[in-house]
This record gives sequence, structure tokens and C-alpha cells, in this order.
Amino acid sequence: AAKHTDAGFLFYDPKTDPHTQQRLQLSSDLRHALERNEFVLYYQPQINIHSGRIIAVEALIRWNHPEHGMIFPDQFIPFAESTGLIGPITEWVLRTAIAQCKTWQMTGMEMRIAINVTARSFQDPLLVDKLESLLYGGGNRLPPERIEIEITENILMVDIEHGAKAIRRLRDLGVSVAIDDFGTGYSSLAYLKKLPIHTLKIDKSFVMNMTEDDNDAVIVRSTIDLAHNLGYLVVAEGVETRDALDLLAVLGCDLAQGYHISHPLPEDELILWVKNSAW
Ligand code: C2E
Ligand code: CA
Ligand code: CA
Ligand code: CA
Repeated sequence: AAKHTDAGFLFYDPKTDPHTQQRLQLSSDLRHALERNEFVLYYQPQINIHSGRIIAVEALIRWNHPEHGMIFPDQFIPFAESTGLIGPITEWVLRTAIAQCKTWQMTGMEMRIAINVTARSFQDPLLVDKLESLLYGGGNRLPPERIEIEITENILMVDIEHGAKAIRRLRDLGVSVAIDDFGTGYSSLAYLKKLPIHTLKIDKSFVMNMTEDDNDAVIVRSTIDLAHNLGYLVVAEGVETRDALDLLAVLGCDLAQGYHISHPLPEDELILWVKNSAW
């Protein structure tokens, strides 16, 4: 059940694993992964398409498993979400990402950090309090504008009233909210416009093929225009080529994220990238 990805990592796919025993093993391993310090955050730059400057990074979790090697989040986050293990994992991500951002701030790197949360974590009534104590705790304070919480549109569709309330509480704290994977779920802009969202991330499935597929280009173009008319910042994810980046610039997209700019990087490599990059 382990195979190599193009990134050269080993990962473990419980879906193709015939042995329930191993699935149980994964679940018990996941329970201990936190105390064994096996999680690590990678950071992927988001650049301003027009100035070329790095504006933000998205924090992306990896699990450095002692036997299976690097495991990607799609292999354990859904499982963690369905079993309730997600709570402490989200707390670790928030704590680590915010501490990292405070360290960068001290060295003059004033990037925003985008953090993914699942439905369960977004619905946690204590999320805002936790964020607040992490931002203001531990001696130095991080401006809340430096944090963006990424949620998928489907999370909002589960319970619209609650979702709207949660977004307003985050906005009151000064933390912004991004709608991730936009275009793949069930919401519409007509409906999102009622919510105080800051950023819209156009899903990579549209961006990746937009220079070959006219339909995808039309979807990207219309999404950018509508989102701008509603006052959102627009991020294109899955920018894999120079041509895609050029087209996004023409279409007036604000930020770009993708392999053409940089893969997600561990923090030491990110620092080097920021110092040396031609972007
Ligand atoms: P996502 O939030 O949509 O993150 C973007 C995914 O696209 C990341 O995969 C990233 O590595 C990948 N990607 C970036 N640039 C490109 C590109 O140019 N082309 C292509 N094809 N892919 C690109 P990753 O890191 O494997 O994460 C997968 C998903 O796992 C994320 O999707 C997110 O939903 C979830 N996830 C990641 N980190 C966390 C976390 O800390 N907490 C939670 N709750 N979920 C997380
Ligand atoms: Ca995301
Ligand atoms: Ca996404
Ligand atoms: Ca996704």
C-alpha cells in the first residue's frame, strides 16, 4: 500500500490497503503521532502576480511516519476528521503556524499565513478563543491580519447560519477567511456575498488546464470578475506553468500559488527561497 509519488515521498494509502489490521495500526499510529512529534508543516508561497512579491504562505501538514515515510494529508486528515482525532491535530497546526509566523515577524518577514481547517474544527465554538490566545500569548503578539483561515465552500453549506456566525467572529477578531477550492462545491457567489469573506481561492482543477481548455479559462475569468465585483481578493492555486501565470496576470487575478512558483517547502528551504527567489 506504499508507493512513490513524483515528489519522491513514500506514502501510505489506506483505501487500497486490504489489511484492516494495517488500518487499525494507522489509527493507533495517528493517535501517537502528536506526542512523538511526527507532524511537520510545509509552506507554499503565494505571490502577488503584478509585483511578484511573496504575500503569504499556505501551511500544509505532512506526517513523517517512522516506517511509511512522508504521508500526505489526503491520507490521514479525512480519517482524523471522521474519528475526532482532528481536534488536537488542528490545535498543533494552529500553534505551530502562529509560532512560525511570530518568528518570521521578528526577522522582518511580514507574510500572512493561510491555515486549513476542517468542518469539525471550524464548528468548534472555542476556535476563536484558541486563536486569540495563540496570537496574543507567549510574549510577542502577532497581528491577527496575519492569519487567514481556509475553509471549503461545502463546510459553509452544512449549516449556513452557524457558518456565517463563525466567519463574523473571526472577522471581529481581525482574522480573515478564505473560501478554498472554489467552484467545486455547491455554493454560489450570490450566496457567498452575504458573508464577510476576504479571499476566494479558485480551485486548481480549473487553473491547471486553463491554457489548454477554453471552458476552464472562461470559468477562471468569470470567477475573477465576479469575485472582484464583490470585493474579494482572488488567489489562483495550481499554477503549474509560466503560460498560466501570464494568462492570470491578463485576467487581473491578484495572487498565484503553485508548482511553477514553488512547491510546498519545509521552513529552512522556504527562508532560502524567500532570500534567493527572483519573484
Ligand atoms: P488544499 O488546501 O486544496 O491544498 C492545496 C494542495 O495542492 C496541496 O496538497 C498542495 O501541495 C497542492 N498543490 C500546490 N500547488 C500545486 C500545483 O501547482 N499543482 C498541483 N497539482 N497541486 C498543487 P497537499 O499538501 O497534499 O494537501 C492536500 C489537502 O490536505 C489540502 O488541499 C487540504 O485540504 C488538506 N490539508 C493540508 N494541510 C492541512 C492542515 O494542516 N489541516 C487540515 N485540516 N487540512 C490540511
Ligand atoms: Ca487550502
Ligand atoms: Ca485548495
Ligand atoms: Ca483541496
